Amino acid sequence: MEDCIFCKIIKGEIPSKTVYEDEDCKAFCDVNPQAPVHVLVVPKKHVQSLAKAADDEKLLGKLMRTCALVAESLGLADGYRVVTNVGENGCQSVLHLHLHVLGGKKLSERMS
Ligand code: 5GP
Ligand code: ZN
Repeated sequence: MEDCIFCKIIKGEIPSKTVYEDEDCKAFCDVNPQAPVHVLVVPKKHVQSLAKAADDEKLLGKLMRTCALVAESLGLADGYRVVTNVGENGCQSVLHLHLHVLGGKKLSERMS
């Protein structure tokens, strides 16, 4: 989709530090990390958010498994957190579905 930052990253039009890629998804480091490890896992298909993924159940499963594989490959054996923000109240700032993988330290017990 035009004017979507993550679609541009997927196409290589905006540089990113890629940690994993396959035919369905890409994982890259967040430009403004909120933990020692902060990776974004995104579908190559433009889907706005989890709320708009009614036709993409299989892809959602793949994205979740990719988070686990990326976490394993980055050495997060002691645990990590996977988050997806949805919409305005969820503070979603990029309207292309993405899962945050956060780890590398003991994370806050608070979720909100
Ligand atoms: P959201 O707030 O939508 O859940 O998360 C969007 C995330 O994308 C933020 O953590 C932000 O730092 C990250 N981000 C925004 N623009 C870019 C970019 O151009 N490159 C990378 N690697 N991350 C970005
Ligand atoms: Zn997009």
